[in-house]
Formats: sequence, C-alpha cells, structure tokens
Amino acid sequence: MTESWQKSIVSSTLLRVKKMTSVFHLIFVSLLFFTTSIFAHSSTPLELASLASQRAALKPSSKTQGPLIVLDAGHGGTDEGAKVRHLQEKKITLLTALYTKKKLEGLGYRVLLTRIKDTYISLPKRVSIANQTNSALFVSIHCNAAHNHLAQGLEIYYCKAGDSTRSLSSSALADSILRQIIQETGCTSRGVKLGRFHVIRETTMPAILIEIGFLTNYDEWASMRKKSYLEQMANGIALGVDTFIKSKKNVLGAS
Ligand SMILES: [Zn+2]
Repeated sequence: MTESWQKSIVSSTLLRVKKMTSVFHLIFVSLLFFTTSIFAHSSTPLELASLASQRAALKPSSKTQGPLIVLDAGHGGTDEGAKVRHLQEKKITLLTALYTKKKLEGLGYRVLLTRIKDTYISLPKRVSIANQTNSALFVSIHCNAAHNHLAQGLEIYYCKAGDSTRSLSSSALADSILRQIIQETGCTSRGVKLGRFHVIRETTMPAILIEIGFLTNYDEWASMRKKSYLEQMANGIALGVDTFIKSKKNVLGAS
C-alpha cells in the first residue's frame, strides 16, 4: 500500500465517518423534532381528562338493550346558568341527569349524557350527540330563575319544529314526565308549554326541556340543595319516560 493510497483510504474513511455522523445527526435531529412536535401538539392532563370524560359520556351504557335516551344536563363549565346564593344551575342539572341515568338504566334503558362533568358543551354539539346516535328521546334539564321571587313550579317545553309526529310525541312525553314528577315530588305545576330553545328545536327525535324549579324561589332553592329532592325529581323524569315509551308501544302494537 502506498502512502497516497493510505492517505486516500484514511480520507475516504474519514469522509464516510463524517457522512455517517451527519446521517446520525440528521436522524437525531429528526427524532428530536418529531418528539418535540408530538409533545407540542399533545393535550395537557386536564384536557386529556376532559376528552376522556367526553368519550365516556358519548358511550352509551352497554348493559341493557332498551331504547337509547339522551339526557342533557343544561349549561356546564364557563356557562354556569342561573346562580343564587352559591347554588349553581349547572351543578343541579348534572346531578339530576346522573340520578336520572341511574334510574333509567335500572328500568332497562340505554342512556347517553351530553356531559358527565363540569364541562362546557355548545348547543349544536348537544344536538349532534342526540341526532347522530339515532336516540329515541332527548331530555334537557334546566332550572328556572325570575325577578319575581314568588314564581315557582315545574314547567316543560316542547317545540313544534319538525314533523307533526315528532311534535305530538314531544308533547305527550312532556305530559307524561310532568305527571310523574308531580307525583314524586309534590311540586307545583306550571304546565307544558311551547318553546323554541335550540336543543328542542334542532333535534330530530321527540325532545323536551324541563325547568325543574326556580332557584329564585326560596322554598324551591332549599329543595334543590337536597340530594333526596333531586333523586325524586330524577325518578319522576325516568318514570315519565318509561310510561311514555310503554304507551307508545301499546299504540303501535294496537295499530
Ligand atoms: Zn338553564
């Protein structure tokens, strides 16, 4: 081997090492960039928890095979709804929805909640959860508020939007739930009313919105603070749903 050959071998080896180093460097930099970009786009633990809870909310209970009922706890997150002396509408609606879910599952229904935590869900999102899951019924739960502190009682809204079958069914569902809630809680009835709230207007199945009571009325505020009262309310909602569905089946069976 001549010296020039040796030199050329050494220089070519050096070049190869340099090339390899730069390849490794490139791979390293790419990996670093890739990992950084993953972390840059990954969610914070709080976001992940919220996403997980939403996934759970979107997954109906699988233990039963009955009709699917969507329960919509009004407000949530930054939208707290009415608030009187630290009692927030968003908390009452969620608790009532959770108790209703439990009761309905006990009666053999599948239940889907539009939210299961204190999270903000837009009105179109609530509607799309109900419409895209081919649910049988949609029940939205709210609390009322008024300047007149004497105003009290339960009222249930339905909307005439959509075909006549949907609005007739919504009205019958509202009647059924109103009757059962009054039986369970003994609260005052303000009756079934027409309304055009987004969630009952844009949904495609029979849909109602319940104002379970007035936070601005002292007696009802005191009742809604109690877990036992919200459970009675939930029993009324669930029994109202059950009675409506069974009566509908009877009508369909007879025709
Ligand atoms: Zn509300």
